[in-house]
Amino acid sequence: MTLESHELWAQCLLNIERRVLARSFDTWFRTTRASRFDSESLVIEVQSAWSADFVESNYLTLIQKVVKEETELAPEIRFEVAANKVETPTQAETEAGPKAADPNQFGLSLPLQKGQAIDSEEEIIDPLSRQLYTSLNEKYTFETFVIGEGNSFAHAAAQAVAKSPGNTQFNPLVIYGGVGLGKTHLLQAIGQYALTHSTVERVAYVPSEKFISDFIHIAIKMRKQAEFQRMYRGADILLVDDIQFLPKTEATQNEFFHTFNALYQAGKQIVMTCDSPPGRLDGLEERLVSRFQWGLLTNIDPPDLETRIAILHQKAEISGIRLPEDVAVFLGNHVSSNIRELEGALIHMMAYCSVNNSELTVEVARKVIQERIPKQSTELAIEVIQRHIADHFDLTPEVLISKTRKKEVTMPRQIAMFLAKQLTGNSLKLIGLHFGNRDHSTVIHAIQTIDKRCKDDPTFAQLVDNLKNTIRQRHTPT
Ligand code: ADP
Ligand code: MG
Repeated sequence: MTLESHELWAQCLLNIERRVLARSFDTWFRTTRASRFDSESLVIEVQSAWSADFVESNYLTLIQKVVKEETELAPEIRFEVAANKVETPTQAETEAGPKAADPNQFGLSLPLQKGQAIDSEEEIIDPLSRQLYTSLNEKYTFETFVIGEGNSFAHAAAQAVAKSPGNTQFNPLVIYGGVGLGKTHLLQAIGQYALTHSTVERVAYVPSEKFISDFIHIAIKMRKQAEFQRMYRGADILLVDDIQFLPKTEATQNEFFHTFNALYQAGKQIVMTCDSPPGRLDGLEERLVSRFQWGLLTNIDPPDLETRIAILHQKAEISGIRLPEDVAVFLGNHVSSNIRELEGALIHMMAYCSVNNSELTVEVARKVIQERIPKQSTELAIEVIQRHIADHFDLTPEVLISKTRKKEVTMPRQIAMFLAKQLTGNSLKLIGLHFGNRDHSTVIHAIQTIDKRCKDDPTFAQLVDNLKNTIRQRHTPT
């Protein structure tokens, strides 16, 4: 490897680090190296075939984009498994300066101390199991969950399951819906409730990335498959978050399938969340999808204005602040993309008021909303979607929103409107405005057309889904 490829890649890594969750970065990127990086080819060295698979299926588009941004190059990207990393630092490491051999070389979220040997079973499995059962966030309870039209069914199902885990028809319970709509909140609320109100003792909350990294590290790398299984199959309630991140590899899905079966047969409760209906997930095995249908699939829709306002009041109350009604209405009206963003705007506003010693007024709310525009305004989000879709179909955003009725433009335009609704949750009217001042009925027509075609044509549904996922992956602030 040349020093230059090392440096180029290091620069890309800095960029990637800003865009993905810290945990994901640690797990999948921190230990990567580039053994070749020029206009033709970028060879990324990862720690195992598993990581290669995972990174390729989940982050390839992100990497391509970042490489383009940082270097103006568009090389073909390949992954290679790095040879023996632990014992001897590679030449690259020597070149790049001293770097101690890291026992936690996979960058996995294990409670390991530096220098601790990784092959001593007792030392690792125990803290691991403990960690598996104690990672609930106290903030996320049923009490703090505001019920609205979009989430009432999911909420009711979650409560039923929490009250008698494993003993309802809702096993497994799968909750799906867009980013920031409360899936993780509900999932964790089930765990907290069950721990305090039922006889269950072992609740495991597991983002699917953790399942994978535990599997790779414990079952594969450390060859402790039995321990891994004992750890996961010992749960009374298994809560798996974001199963869309389960990689396509047979081994991981196989392990997940068996974990699922073992728990199910023992009458244990399984709850999962997902960003789209599991049937539409690319790469999820048929047998897994059909298992999920044994129980209940339910979705969460974006909150309506009334619910958004109720959530704002509730979040303000938790912070010990009374939010004037007009301010709540203003914020609720101007931030509609997702609840996480709604919360962000409120926190931003409270911070602003405490720093400037001012009252919570509509004027201040307006200022704060404007300040947030560069980061994630609803306008920006629609533009981002337009740009992405235009790029994908080799059009310009101007043509995309123009009046032309050429077939090669109308279909992408309709997809863009459809995704604008799904991903930003903006009003039809606002979306219409952004698409060359079209009427909201045109937007409704577009959404219905795409919806219908997705139902009739799985390949098309897949295309739309892929576009949605890439936009989300690249542009959602983490
Ligand atoms: P998801 O997992 O669907 O991406 P989260 O569960 O992380 O979304 O929710 C994002 C934020 O919004 C969290 O802080 C959560 O507490 C809050 N939130 C979501 N839905 C509700 C709700 N119905 N009531 C109160 N807070 C909510
Ligand atoms: Mg979540």
